[in-house]
Amino acid sequence: MAKKQSKKIIPITRPTLEPFAAYAPLFKKVIESSMLTQSVNGAKLEKRAAEYLGVKHCVALSSCTAGLMLTLKGLNLKGEVILPSFTFLASGLPVLWNGLTPVFADIDPDTYCVDPKAVEKLITKNTCAILATHVFGVPCNTQALEKLASKHRIKLIFDAAHAFGSSAGKRRVGGFGDAEVFSLSPTKVLTAGEGGILATNDIALAQFVREGRNYGDKGTNDVAVGGLSARMPEMSAAVALRSLTQLARNLKRRNAAAEYLKKGILKLEPRLRFQHIPKGVRTTYKDLSLYVDPALGYTRDDLHEYLGHKGVMTRKYFYPPLHKMKAYAKAKKGPLPVTDKVATRVLSLPMYAHLEKRDADYILAALKTFIHDRKKS
Ligand SMILES: *Cc1c(COP(=O)(O)O)cnc(C)c1O
Repeated sequence: MAKKQSKKIIPITRPTLEPFAAYAPLFKKVIESSMLTQSVNGAKLEKRAAEYLGVKHCVALSSCTAGLMLTLKGLNLKGEVILPSFTFLASGLPVLWNGLTPVFADIDPDTYCVDPKAVEKLITKNTCAILATHVFGVPCNTQALEKLASKHRIKLIFDAAHAFGSSAGKRRVGGFGDAEVFSLSPTKVLTAGEGGILATNDIALAQFVREGRNYGDKGTNDVAVGGLSARMPEMSAAVALRSLTQLARNLKRRNAAAEYLKKGILKLEPRLRFQHIPKGVRTTYKDLSLYVDPALGYTRDDLHEYLGHKGVMTRKYFYPPLHKMKAYAKAKKGPLPVTDKVATRVLSLPMYAHLEKRDADYILAALKTFIHDRKKS
C-alpha cells in the first residue's frame, strides 16, 4: 500500500522572515540593555520610516487600530466620518471608539478604493473627516480626496495598513492627507509581529499620539486627555527594523509573484479579472485579489471551496462588508451597489514574497482543473 501523502497546504500568506542570525544581535542588545520598550529600536524605526516615507513625523505604536483611535482623537473630531464599507473590519472601529458616526461610501469598481464622487455626495455640515483605505496596497485616488477635504475643510486620514511601500507617481503613501496609519501585523508586508506606525507632517498630531500611546501622559504623571497603552515593544521594533531592510526586495518578489499568477490565470480564463492597478502606481500586493463574475457559470464561493479542498488557502476579503456587521448597525450609508457586488465576487489568493514557483504552478494547476471541470458540466 502506498504511504499516505501529507496534504499539500499553500497558506494565504506568511511573513517573509530572515534566518534567526539576522535578528539575534538585535534581540541580544534588547535583553542586555533591559530596555524592553520605548528605546533605541523604536526611535530608529521611527527615524528610518520617516526617511523612507518622506514625512516629518513617524510614531511607532502597538497596532494600526490603536494608531487610528489616537489619530481621530488627536484631530478633535465631532460628528460624521465618511469611510468605505469595503475594508477590513478594524478600519471603522476607531470611529466607533471615538463616539463618531460612520457613514459608508461606495467604492470604485476597478480599484475597490473609496469613490471620491460617492464621498462628496455624503458630505454634510456634520461631516468632520474622511477615513479612506488603500485597498490591498493600491493607493486611493488621493488627489481627488485631498481636493474634497480642502474644499469642505474636513480632515483626511488614511488607513494605510496595506500600503507601506506603495506609491502613486512620485509620491509614496505615507504623506497624503492629514495622517496615514500603517499596520505591522504579521499579514502585512512590513511587519513587527504586531505594531503600527503613524505618519504625518502635523507636529501637533504627532505629539498628541506620542503622548497618547503612553496613556496621554505628557511626562508630568498627570493626564488631561485619556490616551491608551499603545507602545511598540523593542523586540517588535527590532523585527520591524529588519523587515524594513528587506522591504524593497520583498516588494519586488511580491510584484513578480503576482504578475506570474495573473498572467497564468488570464491564460486559463481571460474573463477572470483582477484589481486594477492604475498607471504609475506601485502596489504592495498585500492581497492578490481575483474577481469572479458569476456569469462565468461559477461563483467566488465555489472557487474558494474548491481551492480549499486542494490545500490552496484563499480568503474572502472583504466579506461581509462593514455595513452588514452588527458593530456598525448604527452607521449611516449612501447607496453601496459596487461594494455589495465586489464583496461577494472577490477572492484573495495566496501571496507572499517567498511564494515558490512550484507552489504558484500548483495553484495554477488547481485553477486549471476547476475551470476545465466547470466547462464540461
Ligand atoms: C490589518 C488591518 C488593520 C488592523 O491593523 P492592526 O495593526 O492589527 O490594528 C486595519 N485596517 C486594515 C485595512 C487592515 O488590513
